[in-house]
Amino acid sequence: MSNLGIYIHVPFCAKKCPYCDFYSTSYTSANMKGYIQALIRNFKAYTTDIPVDTVYFGGGTPSLISGQQLGLIIEELKNSFHINEDAEITIEANPSTIDFDKLFKYRKAGINRLSLGVQSMNKTELDFLGRHHTPERAEKAVKDAHSAGFENISCDLMIGLPNQTISDISHSIERLADLNITHISSYILKVEEGTRFHIDGIIEKLPDDDYISGLYLEMCDILSSYEYKQYEISNFAKNNFQSRHNNRYWKCEDYLGIGPAAHSCYNGIRFAVKPELDDFIASPKQNIEITDSNPYTFEEMAMLKLRLSEGLALSECGDKADNIIKKTDMLIKNGYITFDGKKIALTSKGFMVSNSIIEYLIF
Ligand code: SF4
Repeated sequence: MSNLGIYIHVPFCAKKCPYCDFYSTSYTSANMKGYIQALIRNFKAYTTDIPVDTVYFGGGTPSLISGQQLGLIIEELKNSFHINEDAEITIEANPSTIDFDKLFKYRKAGINRLSLGVQSMNKTELDFLGRHHTPERAEKAVKDAHSAGFENISCDLMIGLPNQTISDISHSIERLADLNITHISSYILKVEEGTRFHIDGIIEKLPDDDYISGLYLEMCDILSSYEYKQYEISNFAKNNFQSRHNNRYWKCEDYLGIGPAAHSCYNGIRFAVKPELDDFIASPKQNIEITDSNPYTFEEMAMLKLRLSEGLALSECGDKADNIIKKTDMLIKNGYITFDGKKIALTSKGFMVSNSIIEYLIF
């Protein structure tokens, strides 16, 4: 029996960040209570014997959950699912919502991986992004996490901000590396419709694509010099600290999402939960919409695997292999991919234009 991952979407934020288009709503203690009761109802509704290998609390701002509430949620999770002894259990946290005491309780409740929404270690960049914390607050969050017993700590970084230089990025990486974190996720700022940044016309101030490509490639080199090995377009890890949960997404392994706006790939379909907290709280079982009734096609599997540095094995390509091989020469010559006769993998340069390359190779 293969393993399952569980994703729990926590839809609360203290304040909406101006660039964010994720589903989230304002936090009140009454909403949180109703949400937790609905979560537990859904755990019972989805109970299964499939061993659970990863659990991920994402959001939103999951760190608005108190230590005591999280203890209860994990206890109920264990009552409904078979959580493996060595399961990876991650929580996303906003540096301004945690302290040693809360982290200690999280660790005690069974959380063993922390993903911190740091975004930058430069004050001006954090102010621009509308974040509440300062670099010092982020530093304290990491130190508190270490003291509370966390070994596996990831930090998010944002690149492609207006006027950002490679030395700004280098400064953030250096400060995080000094704190001995194990994993860095780095995302390029996109201005999505409906966000504050979109209304404010920030899109006009973003650097152009060539400049961002240059930043990304230099960032990959800097991360590599600190031994953060790239394993996916946006993810870099030391030693064995790749995110086991996120790897599920790219390796087409099953995951069950619970909570408003959570996504799943489970029991042969992809589905999304209605993005409404009130509906989630009021419904006996979460309301879902099927988004893909056949998610295991070759094209989908290949697109996801090519996001990973380990790439796509030719043995997985079946009768498409010959056609794909024919297209590799030009891409190798231009430094976009590597091909060792068994596996095709995008280089960092290839990752920057991954959509076009994947489309060219597969379709
Ligand atoms: S970026 Fe994170 S903290 Fe900010 S609004 Fe989005 S989900 Fe909430």
